[in-house]
Amino acid sequence: MMKPLHLPAAAIAVIGLSTSKTSCSAFTIVPSHTSSIAQPISLTRSRLQTTSSIQSTTSDETESSPAKKYVIIGGGWAGWGAAKALCESSTIQTHNITLIDALPDPTGATPYLSSTGKPVEAGTRGFWKDYPNINKLCAQLGIDEDEVFTPFTNSSFYSPDGLEATAPVFSEATVGSILGDVPLVGDVIKNAFGGGGIGEKKEEFPMLPSPLGQVIATIPYFERLPIADRASMVGLLLATIDCLAGDEKVQAAYDRMTAHELFLKFRLSERLVEDFLKPTLLVGLFKPPEELSALVVMELLYYYALAHQDSFDVRWIKKGTVSDSLIQPLAERLVQEEYGQLNVMGGCRVKEVSLEQSEIDGKMHASKLTYLDTKSGQMETIEDIDGIIMAVGNQGMSSIVTSSPDLAKFPVFSKAASLKGIDVISCRLWFDRKVSTRSPANVFSRFDALRGAGGTFFMLDQLQEDSPELWGDDTPQEGSVVACDFYNAGGLMSLSDEDLVKILTDELLPSAVTKFADAKLVDSWVGKYPGVVSWFSPGSFDKRPPLEGAGTDVLPNIKCAGDWVRMGEREHGAKGLCQERAYVSGFEAANSLLKSTCEEEFQPHEVLPVREDEAQFKMGMELNRKVMQYVPRFWTR
Ligand SMILES: Cc1cc2nc3c(=O)[nH]c(=O)nc-3n(C[C@H](O)[C@H](O)[C@H](O)COP(=O)(O)OP(=O)(O)OC[C@H]3O[C@@H](n4cnc5c(N)ncnc54)[C@H](O)[C@@H]3O)c2cc1C
Repeated sequence: MMKPLHLPAAAIAVIGLSTSKTSCSAFTIVPSHTSSIAQPISLTRSRLQTTSSIQSTTSDETESSPAKKYVIIGGGWAGWGAAKALCESSTIQTHNITLIDALPDPTGATPYLSSTGKPVEAGTRGFWKDYPNINKLCAQLGIDEDEVFTPFTNSSFYSPDGLEATAPVFSEATVGSILGDVPLVGDVIKNAFGGGGIGEKKEEFPMLPSPLGQVIATIPYFERLPIADRASMVGLLLATIDCLAGDEKVQAAYDRMTAHELFLKFRLSERLVEDFLKPTLLVGLFKPPEELSALVVMELLYYYALAHQDSFDVRWIKKGTVSDSLIQPLAERLVQEEYGQLNVMGGCRVKEVSLEQSEIDGKMHASKLTYLDTKSGQMETIEDIDGIIMAVGNQGMSSIVTSSPDLAKFPVFSKAASLKGIDVISCRLWFDRKVSTRSPANVFSRFDALRGAGGTFFMLDQLQEDSPELWGDDTPQEGSVVACDFYNAGGLMSLSDEDLVKILTDELLPSAVTKFADAKLVDSWVGKYPGVVSWFSPGSFDKRPPLEGAGTDVLPNIKCAGDWVRMGEREHGAKGLCQERAYVSGFEAANSLLKSTCEEEFQPHEVLPVREDEAQFKMGMELNRKVMQYVPRFWTR
């Protein structure tokens, strides 16, 4: 049916190398007895109550059976979203679905430990108000959200001058909690809302049309930034409406601009940019405004701050990590026969994806992939593939496309492979005493010691109260456990772990919260991750991989998923570096793959939209469209 277009020497070599046994991960290995093709391994029943054998689809079987052989490359949120959608898609029979990842155990079942046996995580991740699909996942897995997530928490910004601002929590706020301590101004506003005891309802901070509530709340919560500087933010509101209301051409023009240029053109005050927007972007999109696409910055500001009064409300994992709290239960479910019998292959780095040309429709099709089993050091292959979802980030894309001449021929893949990623560093510090802070989640802003990086610190002993597990095998101590992340960390990458820890304990933490100066460090861990995070650089929009890959007309059975993927008509409201976005992109990629490859009826995975735009934004965008028919957009290029 298919004729090989191109079979590189490396691929021929690996076919010869295929062994009857793989040892890709820490999981039990299932020997292949059907062919010489390397077989995916399954999580075992002893560990995850799953299958004792692997479905194997040979070419012959494909002809007599509608079951398809799908491979998902990448086991982040996007890969797991895709796996869920594929596993739940068939009403007729189970497809042969494999998720393959370079990490030793992408299922979250094996905790990451420091060298002293304490649990660590590559970055602390928050869950914002509008994550409807992740919330639904909790319901589907029977997980009580209050058991997995903390309540929505405040976040504080610290600079060398001290506390700069604290973001309030709107969804659970009362008039008193938002405006309580503010003399004079607070009282005036409280009275205007009728707060102060006239009735219980009145005590709740009212949901106001956005961004009115946010503006009012910033009156008491900015400690230093003068009101005139804050007022200059209005220019950004206008730009956001113009950008988001625009068509593809308009958005491409905004994408070519840096956010910094946009801030200048819309006359935002220098102090607002330096003291607030720059640190916010450094921790939101992991780059300063001069290195970011204005389009993505406005998408982000709208989604996380402007769309609704409580859009910025964020909560955190209450116990353990994202992997063990959410991914592990999902993985446990999907490997079960009744939920799709997913095969998971950890410790397997995909090298080459090979294509063939169909004699029937003349289109190219992915049919085989080659991977390095990092445990055995052997190259292995998976053949007779019906569809692939590439749920890898920029680094994975670059390495796969570089080793895949067939893929590199398609500009969408070679352009995506050219995008660079951002360095991050995660640290965890264990102290001998508890340090109390104004809020559990905190941002470092404008410190010279950051060397251009953004920084955050999370008080895990506050977020994960009563969790002796934070101390691993050590006798749990009474002290604080602090997770610190550096983003855009290029200027810090060359420092030794000891020097990084010293910067935190001697400079950053005590400058933000003086009580850290009295706390003694008991243990520390540092993880460095060069170039792993999607970088939404100016002009990158056109290079980011489309969900549809090279397109259904030319290469129907490779789709892309991940936070950096352009979803086109299927675009979702969740934006930026965002777990919800990555997860949803996995659903969409799987739905699209099934549509392109599955002759049988299938059940597309449901995608929940984020909350609807508020009326004033809809009206603003409509008005903008009308006005901009007559006004030249001289500020973009
Ligand atoms: C430090 C940090 C903090 C963050 N904070 C937040 C937050 O607060 N809130 C939020 O919503 N989001 C946050 N994010 C962003 C969020 O984590 C990402 O947007 C999301 O996890 C991306 O998921 P993904 O599946 O697209 O990519 P990834 O999670 O990067 O998954 C890609 C997978 O592909 C695998 N892979 C790559 N190459 C290969 C190969 N050749 N073969 C096999 N496997 C391969 C990798 O091992 C990886 O597991 C943060 C990210 C970081 C790094």
